[in-house]
Amino acid sequence: MIPALRYAGDRVVVMGLGKSGLSAAESLRAGGADVRVWDDQPMQLAQVTARGFIAFDGVQTDFSGMRALVWSPGVPHTFPKPHPMAEHARAAGLSLTCDVDLLLEAQPDAAVIAITGTNGKSTTTALIAHLFQHAGRKVAVGGNLGTPALDLEPLGLGGTYVLELSSYQLELVPHLACETAVLLNITPDHLDRHGGMDGYIAAKRRIFAKQRQPRTAVIGIDDPHAAALYANLADDGVHTVIPISVKKPVAGGVYVENGLLVDATGHHPVTLLDLTTASAFPGAHNWQNAAAAAAVAVSHGIPASLIASGMLCFPGLKHRQELVATVGNTAFVNDSKATNADAAEKALLCYDNIYWIAGGQAKEGGITSLKPLFPRIRRAFLIGEAADDFADQLEGHVPFDLYEDLETAIEEAGEAAVNDSAPATVLLSPACASFDMFKNFEERGNRFRDEVRSLWPQPKVQP
Ligand code: ADP
Repeated sequence: MIPALRYAGDRVVVMGLGKSGLSAAESLRAGGADVRVWDDQPMQLAQVTARGFIAFDGVQTDFSGMRALVWSPGVPHTFPKPHPMAEHARAAGLSLTCDVDLLLEAQPDAAVIAITGTNGKSTTTALIAHLFQHAGRKVAVGGNLGTPALDLEPLGLGGTYVLELSSYQLELVPHLACETAVLLNITPDHLDRHGGMDGYIAAKRRIFAKQRQPRTAVIGIDDPHAAALYANLADDGVHTVIPISVKKPVAGGVYVENGLLVDATGHHPVTLLDLTTASAFPGAHNWQNAAAAAAVAVSHGIPASLIASGMLCFPGLKHRQELVATVGNTAFVNDSKATNADAAEKALLCYDNIYWIAGGQAKEGGITSLKPLFPRIRRAFLIGEAADDFADQLEGHVPFDLYEDLETAIEEAGEAAVNDSAPATVLLSPACASFDMFKNFEERGNRFRDEVRSLWPQPKVQP
């Protein structure tokens, strides 16, 4: 844990007591602050006051005497409606901050690589950290992914923090002094929280606002919103901009052409790797993540050979097209993180002859956008609240069955796929949230992996 020293001797309040809020409260206390806490959920609040923190109800009490308000990024503070506590704090002249800001201030000597984008943040963050570790660099990885910022280890000079940042976090970090910033892509998401598309883009853009030398900006140029930001930054005379694309070769950038990952940041383009030979990068969406990570590694002086060997041994992240078992010609793939149709589309594009397990808590739009991919689906195995609706949309195009639970769907899908004489894929890519049947997408994916491996035991891998 990293003590946050900035508020030593001051009274501060931490609002929102999830994983990162609790970590911020402990870190501020270790740094000598007088820490007050609040959460609208009485149970959550009670768990934290039991650790010796005093409750502060910022709706009922005024903020006089408070030096800072550390805000949990998940709680709305402007749109769609500001939490009254945020309004009171602002009226008292306090600005909101978050744990990532405290980390950057507590560790000014370490380098910082920040990653954002609508999709691919976690994969790219993990891949960058992996490439740096593979090259023998000292890194810590966290933020929106895994470990909360202040629970990371202190690194100091020579160390590098690799931080995934959501648009919510970016709004709460006024001094994001990162050497390297990555923006993968921008498509509409979380618009209610940002007051529309302009607000969402403005939040993403903040990643470049306060960069430190050499102000390296790695930007995907394959969608119009990120491309417009690229055009803006490329001419500002301040940033060192590296464009990335999986659609076309880009001079001065890193791109993928016919599966080949090419570094064109130097005098001559250098082919780093044939990504079709690396198991962790199925689909062009993953090539974008690989290109961004390669651009970061190149800009930090990691040699081409280490980037290539690092990519080849990247294990990939759990729940994102994670290959959990193979039985003969059949692959079992856990893509539980695909909680909407857009994400499921990425996985469906990667396989043919798919035995598709889908459904859960429905998202707006259902699966109508996936219709062009229906011919790839051999049979659908539907679960959860969305099952009836998905069945209506598949009717006449794809055969399907409805199941009460995930386990039965796995058993039936697996049996059918294993008995298929053609190569097949059993794909859990639900296009739905998990909350109707599971605690979260991780629990859903873990259940899939465990069940598959108990029904079709896998040979032990020798260490
Ligand atoms: P995030 O952290 O931004 O949610 P992840 O790396 O966890 O992204 O990937 C989540 C899902 O998003 C993946 O399962 C895949 O379907 C999709 N995805 C991953 N990378 C990209 C990308 N670069 N572009 C579009 N979609 C992507």
